[in-house]
Amino acid sequence: MLDYQPPLSLLAGRVILVTGASTGIGREAALHYARHGATLILLGRNVAKLETLYDEIAAAGYPQAAIIPLDMLGATDQHYRDMAATIDNQFGRLDGVLMNAGELGVLSPFETIDDSTWDKVMKINVDATFRMTRALLPLLKAAPDGRLIFTSSGVGKKGRAYWGAYAVSKFATEGMMQVLADEHSKGPLRVNCINPGGTRTSMRAKAFPGEDPQTLKTPADLMPLYLYLMGPDSKDVNGQSLDAQPK
Ligand code: NDP
Repeated sequence: MLDYQPPLSLLAGRVILVTGASTGIGREAALHYARHGATLILLGRNVAKLETLYDEIAAAGYPQAAIIPLDMLGATDQHYRDMAATIDNQFGRLDGVLMNAGELGVLSPFETIDDSTWDKVMKINVDATFRMTRALLPLLKAAPDGRLIFTSSGVGKKGRAYWGAYAVSKFATEGMMQVLADEHSKGPLRVNCINPGGTRTSMRAKAFPGEDPQTLKTPADLMPLYLYLMGPDSKDVNGQSLDAQPK
């Protein structure tokens, strides 16, 4: 675990978008970014959960957040273009994006992967992430110290039996990160991946139903790396895929 304890002013003045902010790792990252001074844009499909988080941020006295209700399964380029325009109009800047929303699908032998699982996993984890990234890049490139973080997985670096579409989608995520990082090697935008490692969330419980969740790290345990890669101290880190729980 990274030993990084930044000041609460780490992200002051920055506007940060988190996808899949309703629950799990994304929710925790949004809360931590807000606690460290950022104005959060909370994107997800579950509006009730996003509103609860919005209220929690307000009650804590952190900068007022904004909500973008969006189902990445059905979203089109127009949604992403409108979203970028709204962020530009409302905030005039976008300093960081955490691409965290993800879909596990159904784990199965490769030859029995069904079309709907393949399509859904690739749509959310790859296609929608690509389209949103493309629409937001002009804002991120204009930021004085922009950060783009993708969310990978251990099976996005080494394939594993039965992880099918999810593993393939995470390899694609790593590729997207590397291409973008190389295009922006001169900065100031920095593009990296985080592999959370096994973490106590609903997705993990779905993948490992027999596992005792108490044996796992919580999303809060991972936050030092999420803060580090989103803040100014990672200005020399680009094109990396970092483990939030290094062995
Ligand atoms: P959760 O299932 O707890 O949360 C996933 C988030 O993604 C939710 O906020 C969910 O929103 C959102 N999401 C899913 N589909 C869509 C969609 N169609 N449109 C918009 N938002 C959507 O998962 P985790 O917190 O565990 O995972 C976060 C990331 O970390 C994922 O990318 C995952 O692949 C990765 N990861 C997780 C690991 C773990 O052990 N937990 C290990 C390795 C990687 P909603 O609440 O509406 O469903």
